[in-house]
Amino acid sequence: MSSLPIIDHFIAGQRSAGASDATQPVFNPATGEATKAVRLGAEAEVKAATDAAKAAAPGWAATTPLRRARILNKFLHIIEERIDELAAVITSEHGKVLSDAKGEIQRGMEVVEFATAAPQLLKGEVTENVGTRVDSHSLRQPLGVVAGITPFNFPAMVPMWMFPIALAAGNCFILKPSERDPSASLVIADWLKEAGLPDGVFQVVHGGKDAVDAILTNPDIQAVSFVGSTPIARYIYETAAKNGKRCQALGGAKNHMIIMPDADMDQAVDALMGAAYGSAGERCMAISVAVPVGEKTAETLIAKLEPKIRALKVGPGTDPEAEMGPLVTKQHLDKVRGYIDAGVAEGAKLVVDGRGLQLQGYEDGYFVGGTLFDNVTTDMTIYKEEIFGPVLAVARAPDYATAAKMINDHPFGNGTAIFTRDGDAAREFAHQIQVGMVGINVPIPVPMAFHSFGGWKQSLFGDHHMHGMEGIRFYTKLKTITTRWPTGIRAGADFVMPTMS
Ligand code: NAD
Repeated sequence: MSSLPIIDHFIAGQRSAGASDATQPVFNPATGEATKAVRLGAEAEVKAATDAAKAAAPGWAATTPLRRARILNKFLHIIEERIDELAAVITSEHGKVLSDAKGEIQRGMEVVEFATAAPQLLKGEVTENVGTRVDSHSLRQPLGVVAGITPFNFPAMVPMWMFPIALAAGNCFILKPSERDPSASLVIADWLKEAGLPDGVFQVVHGGKDAVDAILTNPDIQAVSFVGSTPIARYIYETAAKNGKRCQALGGAKNHMIIMPDADMDQAVDALMGAAYGSAGERCMAISVAVPVGEKTAETLIAKLEPKIRALKVGPGTDPEAEMGPLVTKQHLDKVRGYIDAGVAEGAKLVVDGRGLQLQGYEDGYFVGGTLFDNVTTDMTIYKEEIFGPVLAVARAPDYATAAKMINDHPFGNGTAIFTRDGDAAREFAHQIQVGMVGINVPIPVPMAFHSFGGWKQSLFGDHHMHGMEGIRFYTKLKTITTRWPTGIRAGADFVMPTMS
């Protein structure tokens, strides 16, 4: 048993130690210090949470959508008031700068705001006279108990893509957060309870593969939402389907940005800086490949990017001056450094090398500086694989068609962008490109809460994107009722206004 402060599960409305003593350390990425230990749940903990959810489910499903929405509204006010507290928790375990942590909470809150329209969102359809004197109407009803399995890179926002909609639709939700930054999930659980959510409706089970497998095989869990890397997303989707569950599994990414010769280069460079290096590149919508079209565009791009990357302010997430924090773990730091080594070995030109970065006072932190490769080709590992760090690859293309083909041929299809002043090129790009989320002069085209988030190809397994109306559809099952009433009732009815005769 660890001597570090323990991060418990949250089951049936309270902190729970669960059935096992297994834990894993949680680190502060800025210092490399183990600060807490998180419990590693498995079958027993998932069963306890599922049983509590099953007990709570009929009452929550019968609670009117308006009342459910009011609880979410209260929760929204609590987060709004205490956003700094939650952001500090995120930064202490993830490492991202505080302003970025607040940004992710803000994006999550927008989904809660969307979900507070539950009475409107859950409205069914009605057709009068589908046959003579026969009417049809449809209802969207909750699935029952659903689960969400989330990645380390957005410990508040990604759970908030899922549970506000699941709860608004009348489901009970079990969250299995990333074991690398698990504390934000407990803050959320406490605040939902404070907002009035009944016990068992939202729960947290910590852990890794064992907890995930217990979710995937528990017959009382009807649906699984997943966000994480592609190999795990594929495994989750296949295993969930094999066990008869509805599943949406969002995977990894390799997002390209085309820079056309007519683009506003200063705008494109500023956009690339934020999109490639923000959150140290640990975003599924980060741009990791820049595709300048034409040699002159490429030369200008590199000349403008290089000094900005060298000037990037890297520091602990708590430093208000820092633009980029550390990577999440030592293992991830080693992996990202390994990719930079591989890029050099495969012959890409290393324009800016972030490997040597040392920060005074934070020598044991997981820092790597902004890194830029030029002359990257499509056969290189650093082009084919997701690095998930502050490493931008420039892959030059002679013309638009070659650039677009690179994107279409890539197995990932999460996000992409084009920078151009040409409406025709932009329209062609938007309509033909094989990617789920597209930006026109917008580097990170993350859909708002009332639209839906999701990629194509190996960036999403399943049918439904997250939040927006896609979320409502995912977390509800459709029932269609066809009604005919026998005639004759009216014959005996008195249609005369009663009077005091
Ligand atoms: P990850 O796949 O390692 O982990 C995600 C979740 O799966 C965690 O909860 C983890 O505990 C669990 N998990 C890990 N290994 C498992 C295994 N072998 N069996 C079962 N479950 C397992 O991902 P991560 O490193 O936490 O997050 C980064 C990845 O997530 C990147 O690939 C990134 O692109 C992706 N991501 C995608 C989106 C999107 O919307 N498409 C959004 C955010 C992050």
